[in-house]
Formats: sequence, C-alpha cells, structure tokens
Amino acid sequence: MTDSAVSDLECSNVCKNFGSVQAVKDVSFEIPSGSFFSILGPSGCGKTTLMRMIAGFEEPDSGDISIKGRSVLNVPPNRRNVKMVFQHLALFPMMNVFENIAYGLRCIGADRDEIKRKVQDVLNRVALPDVGGREIHQLSGGQKQRIAIARCMVLDPDVLLLDEPLGALDLKLREAMKIELKLLQHQFDTTFVYITHDQSEALVMSDRVAVMNNGRFEQIGSPQDLYHHPKTAFVAGFVGDSNRWTGRVSAVQGEEVMVETDGGMNARCRPGEGASVAAGDTVTLFVRPEFVHLTQGREALGENSLQGRVDNLLFNGANSRALVRMGSGELVEVDVTLTGGADDVKPTDDVALSWSAENAICFPSGEGR
Ligand code: ATP
Repeated sequence: MTDSAVSDLECSNVCKNFGSVQAVKDVSFEIPSGSFFSILGPSGCGKTTLMRMIAGFEEPDSGDISIKGRSVLNVPPNRRNVKMVFQHLALFPMMNVFENIAYGLRCIGADRDEIKRKVQDVLNRVALPDVGGREIHQLSGGQKQRIAIARCMVLDPDVLLLDEPLGALDLKLREAMKIELKLLQHQFDTTFVYITHDQSEALVMSDRVAVMNNGRFEQIGSPQDLYHHPKTAFVAGFVGDSNRWTGRVSAVQGEEVMVETDGGMNARCRPGEGASVAAGDTVTLFVRPEFVHLTQGREALGENSLQGRVDNLLFNGANSRALVRMGSGELVEVDVTLTGGADDVKPTDDVALSWSAENAICFPSGEGR
C-alpha cells in the first residue's frame, strides 16, 4: 500500500559538478505516490546525472534526496528501494525469461515457491503469462521492454527509474510502447520517473513533467500546463511546436503588448506567465501552428497577419501541416485540415495567415536559455 501523505521521491536543492561543469544546479521537486513523472530536456542538460544520483550511482555535492520520506544520501544503490530500466534493457541473454525475472529475488534469498509465485504474478501483470520458458532472443522488442520492467517490478520498488527506454525502438513500436508504459504504470500503481529528450513521449505518458535546461528545472507542471502556460521562453520553444519571431516591444496596452518584429510585422500578443516586458525590450514571439488561421488568396494585412505562398505540405491525413514561405524568406508552419477535396490548400497557393492576440505569447529574448 502506498502512503499518500508521503511523497515517493523528493529532491531538495540538489547540485552536482564535474570539475567546472555544473551538471545539476539547485534542483528541487517532489513526486506524489503512484505518479508518472518525466524529466524532459535536451542532450547534456543533466537528466542522466540527476537520475544516477536518485539511483545512488553518484552522490550530490549538496542538497538532499529522500525516498518515502527518508534521506538516502550515502545509502548504496542496492540498499535504496529504487530500480532502473536502461535504454538497452540489460536483460541477461544467457538466461530465459523466468530466470531473468527471478534473478533479483534469488539475490535477496527468496525461496523457490515465493520466486515461482512472484515471477508468474508479474508476468501476468505485464500481460505475458506464457513466456517464462522463452529465451530472450525469442522475444519481440516490445516484449523485451515489458520483461525489463517486470524484472524490476518483481522486487516491488518504491520508485522505478526509466532512462530513455524507448530510444532503441523503431518509430511504430515507440508509439505503441508509450501507451503501454502508461498503462503499466497505472497497473502497478508505482511511481515511474522517466527521462527523455522527446517531448511527445513526456506529454503523452506523464502526470507531471519537469523541463530541464542547462542543469536547472525551468518548469514543473502537467503536460497541459506546460503546453498552454509555459513560464519561460525555453519551455515555450521546447514543448510542442511553435513559430517564433524576434522583435521589439513598441507599446504595452493593459494585459497585451505590441511587438514590431524584425521582419516588420506588427503583432499584438500577451507576455508569457510571469514574464515582465516593457516598451523597447527585445522579445521572442511564439505562435503555435494550430493557432495560425490560413485563408487562400491575399488579404489586407492587419495586426497578427502575414502573406505568403505555400512552399510544402507535410501530409499526415486530415491533420497536416503547411509550410508557408513569406516574402522575407522565412517559413511559417500552419496546421491545416485536408479533406481530399478541390478546396484543399496546395503548394504554390497564395495564402494569408492570421491569429488572435491571445494565442501569441512573448518572452524577453534570451530568457531561459
Ligand atoms: P543525454 O540526454 O545526452 O544523455 P543528459 O541530459 O543526460 O544528456 P548528463 O549526461 O547528465 O546529461 O550530462 C550533463 C553534463 O555533465 C554534460 O555536460 C556532461 O558532459 C557532464 N558530465 C556527465 N557525467 C560526467 C562525468 N562523469 N564527468 C564529467 N562530466 C560529466
């Protein structure tokens, strides 16, 4: 039974340097019991270092890490009730599935009957009840993933760490495994901490996501929060797709600001949450492709509008994307609905683009980078 009053994992002001490299800078977060938490960030931002400190393979230079309310500083990895699934899964190729899963139970001295019962139980829970006798090479990629998770979960960890476990899979299997991992987490009701540089994985699977950049957590929130209410320019640019322009604030009008972009567009937008901007500031403007409205032909240009020509269509069924080339040469991405009819937008069409001020946000340039 999980104790909902105690968080499964808490990091307080954790820092780690390697010589002059500050790999993790003052990271604090708390994960409630039984949730799916992802740490999302670009290569080199410090994700693996943070994960290795949670697992006990590295010690922080300062700060504290607690599991189930108890500090685990200086507790060796095998004495922390944390298990880890690696990208290459690390299944033992010379052992069959049953023996792979049983291995950890044997190490802690479980008896034969208990091992048999627990291995079969976990195989049932990962929906592979009949594969115990198979060799590892006889499993599909997705089955190997589930066995790697079963091998950890049979030991009933407080927290399961997953270090980019889908990285080695082909695209189709990755898509299927995203859903499967989320269902497995729900089924085991154990906290999963998942690290990835792939925002679509983090958004689909997680209850909450921490966006990490340059050793720091920029923002922690639900996928919806991060997507709709980014608090820094980095989060706005890293989570989901956005068109961006740089420009200068020409006026502040209540909740909105006017920006004159470097390409000469007048854009009305709102400052990102928590961002303060003043007239004269240099800002980056973000507009998501799904908020850009496309009309065929040319229309008079007002605020938040542009004219261009369709350069390319990235076909993806009904929800496709048009790449529209402006006179200045820049490309603007626009989500378009294609019905297969004669009215569908096509390459070389002249189009007008527009969006509403509430769907355009700006942050001071350089913030969060
Ligand atoms: P990736 O997604 O590419 O694995 P990451 O976000 O996991 O990257 P880390 O591997 O944690 O990033 O690395 C963070 C920074 O710390 C990088 O600059 C890296 O070069 C540095 N670093 C990590 N481990 C060591 C080490 N043992 N010695 C020196 N520098 C290290």
